[in-house]
Amino acid sequence: MAFIEIDSNSKMKVPDNPTIGLIEGDGIGPDISKTAVRVLNSAIEMAYTGKVSIEWQKIVAGDEAFETTGKHLPQESLDLLKKCIISIKGPLTTPIGEGFRSLNVTMRQYFDLYANVRPVRYFPGVPSPVKEPEKVNMVIFRENTEDLYAGIEWRYNSDEAKRLRWYLGENFGVKLPDDAGIGIKPISKFKSTRLVRKAIQYAIQEHRKSVTLVHKGNIMKYTEGAFKEWGYEVAKEEFRDYTVTEDEYNASPGTASWKVVIKDRITDNMFQQVLTRTSDYDVIATTNLNGDYLSDAIAAQVGGLGIAPGANIGDVYAIFEAVHGTAPKYAGMDIANPTSLILSGSMMLRHIGWTEASDIIESAVAECYREQKVTQDLARILNVKSLKCSEFGEEVIKRMKNPSS
Ligand code: NAP
Repeated sequence: MAFIEIDSNSKMKVPDNPTIGLIEGDGIGPDISKTAVRVLNSAIEMAYTGKVSIEWQKIVAGDEAFETTGKHLPQESLDLLKKCIISIKGPLTTPIGEGFRSLNVTMRQYFDLYANVRPVRYFPGVPSPVKEPEKVNMVIFRENTEDLYAGIEWRYNSDEAKRLRWYLGENFGVKLPDDAGIGIKPISKFKSTRLVRKAIQYAIQEHRKSVTLVHKGNIMKYTEGAFKEWGYEVAKEEFRDYTVTEDEYNASPGTASWKVVIKDRITDNMFQQVLTRTSDYDVIATTNLNGDYLSDAIAAQVGGLGIAPGANIGDVYAIFEAVHGTAPKYAGMDIANPTSLILSGSMMLRHIGWTEASDIIESAVAECYREQKVTQDLARILNVKSLKCSEFGEEVIKRMKNPSS
C-alpha cells in the first residue's frame, strides 16, 4: 500500500498507486459507490494508460459499521481515514435520537475539514426550474466547523438553559423568556480567515473573477459582520497584488481584468441575486448556516442535489462526498443517480493533481446529459427512458475521450 504523504512544506506527495479511502455509505451508497469507482478507474486508465492507478481502501462507517462493531464510526475507521489522507464517501444515515451526532459533522470536526467546497455548474440537457441555468458557474466555500453547527445549545427547560438565562439577566441585563431554548453562534477570526483565505487562493489559482463574502452582518454584527470584515482584511493583507475590492474596481474601471474582485452581499439579498444577476457571482465564501442554505438553493438552479458534487477540505485531510442523502427507498435497487459521487470523485482527482482524468470524466458526464442518457430521477421529468445507476456509469465510460489522442 502506498499512502499519500504531506511533506514539510505541507505539500501533498501522491505516489503512482495511492491508497484512497472509500466509505460506500448507507442506503443507495453501495450502488452509487460501485458505479463511481468504475467510472474513476476507467478515466484514470484512459488518461495515464496504466502508469498510475488508485488502490481503494474500503472503510466502514454508518449502518455497516454498526452491524459489525456496534459503533457507527469506529476508531479503526477514523485511523484508516487518517492514514489515507484523501477519501471519498457515499451518504450516511443520521440515526434520529437523543445525543446522536451526525457522522458527517463528527468527521469534519475530527479531521478539521474546515471548508465545505461545492462547485455548481450547469450541464445542458438537465431539467432546471430557471430560464438560464447555463449562467450558473459558482463554487461555494462554506465554513464547516463553527457557527450554530458547533452544537452549543440547550433545551428550554434544561438546567443549563435556566442558569444561562439567569446569568444573562444578572450580568448583562438581558431578559429572555422563561421558556426560551438557547443556542450559541461562535464565529472566530482564525476560522473565518482561513476559510476566506482558501476561497481566495482557489479563485486566484483557477482564474476566477470574484470572491463574494456572504453574511448577515447587518443584524449579527459581531459574528456575521465580523466574518465580512476579516474576509476583506485577509484579502488586503495576504493577497493585495492579486485582489481588488468592488469599490476600488468600480472607481477605476482600468483595473487589470485578471485581478479577483472581492465583494460582499447580505445573505437575503444574495438569495435573490443568484437568481436575478446570476453571472455576477463566481466564488462564494460564507459562514456555515448561510452556506448550508445557499449551496442547496444554487444547486437547485441547475437541476438539484442529485448531480452536485462536494468536498470537505482542511489543510491536510480531505473527504469528497455525494451531497445528497441515503435515499433509503432506492437502496439496493440500482436506480439512484450516481452523478454527485462521480463528480465528487472527479474533484478528488483534480485535488491530487490528476486533472486529465478529471477532465475526461466531466466531459463524458456532460455528453450523457446532452444526449439525455439519465437515471429515473431526471428521466421522469424529461419523459425519456431511464437508465439504471450502473448503466449510467457504463454510458459515461463509453463517452470518455482522451483529448491528447
Ligand atoms: P435524501 O436521502 O437526499 O433523499 C431525498 C429524496 O431525494 C429521495 O427520496 C429522492 O427523491 C431524491 N434523491 C436523493 N439522492 C438521489 C439520488 N442519488 N438519485 C435519485 N434520487 C435521489 O434525503 P433524506 O430523505 O432527507 O435523508 C435520508 C437520510 O440521509 C437521512 O438519514 C439523512 O440524515 C441522511 N443524509 C446524509 C447526508 C450525507 O451523508 N452527506 C446528506 C443528507 C442526508 P424522490 O423520492 O423524489 O425520488
